[in-house]
Amino acid sequence: MWYDKRVMVDTLLISLILVMMFILGAVFGSFACCQAWRWRYHVLHKKELGQWSVCLHCKKRIKWYDNIPIVSWLVLRGKCRYCHKKIGLADFLSEISLAIAFFMLSWAYLVPILENWNILALKPELLALQLGVFIVTLMLLVVLMVLAVYDAKWGELPTVLLILAIVIGAIVWVLKMYELSLTDDGDVIGGLWNSFGAVMILAGTCFVIYKASKEKLMGSGDWLLALALALPLASWWLALWTIFLANLLGDVIVLPTALKSGNKKVHFGPFLVAAFVIVLVLGNCLPLLLKAL
Ligand SMILES: [Zn+2]
Repeated sequence: MWYDKRVMVDTLLISLILVMMFILGAVFGSFACCQAWRWRYHVLHKKELGQWSVCLHCKKRIKWYDNIPIVSWLVLRGKCRYCHKKIGLADFLSEISLAIAFFMLSWAYLVPILENWNILALKPELLALQLGVFIVTLMLLVVLMVLAVYDAKWGELPTVLLILAIVIGAIVWVLKMYELSLTDDGDVIGGLWNSFGAVMILAGTCFVIYKASKEKLMGSGDWLLALALALPLASWWLALWTIFLANLLGDVIVLPTALKSGNKKVHFGPFLVAAFVIVLVLGNCLPLLLKAL
């Protein structure tokens, strides 16, 4: 009996942590959108938005109960309570996608760490590395979301944010390679080649398209963004899926509207980020999902 009780407490605790991570993701999604706007105001040298969230149309301060990530957008159906002007879909998408990503990645990374804590505690270095990969990956997702929202709204990828994403992506990569060197059957040389393949496939393809199309199909920022995604993936196979999925999403979502409006300029950044999040989540969770079925 005592054993069952312990299992129950563990399950409850893990469920609680996953719910908390979902909420944390939603909060960071909302934060990312806010940062995109702040950065835009900064770039345009406009007056600061101030400390409080305000409606961008009527400048009324948004009450706390209208500022709850995901929930408020659904309750207000994407409109301001006062002036009824639209609140961008980007806000909602960024909140819900980060919430799901935080939840799923916690399940794939954090839960196994917590479950094997006692064993991992014998190798503190490995434990620290695994926690490091998890936390820095989440940080990367937040920066990527700021970039995706910015690109979707204004068709640009701010260089400072790109560099930040590449640096954080490189940190994830270094941690992963270090972790590989500590595991018993870890093949570091294989890992390096795999990472090289990922960079070539993702950043290389984007760079070639950018040069060949003379910046028409892809901007200079896209291949740098692709570099920030290739490093943490560290797998040519996942990189291939990312570029494939990004193109697929782009074609399905952009082409119909582009043909209708005659607007040929495609902003690829949001699709790259969306594909990366999907591949990262599925790449880590699919084996777990299959095991659970
Ligand atoms: Zn308003």
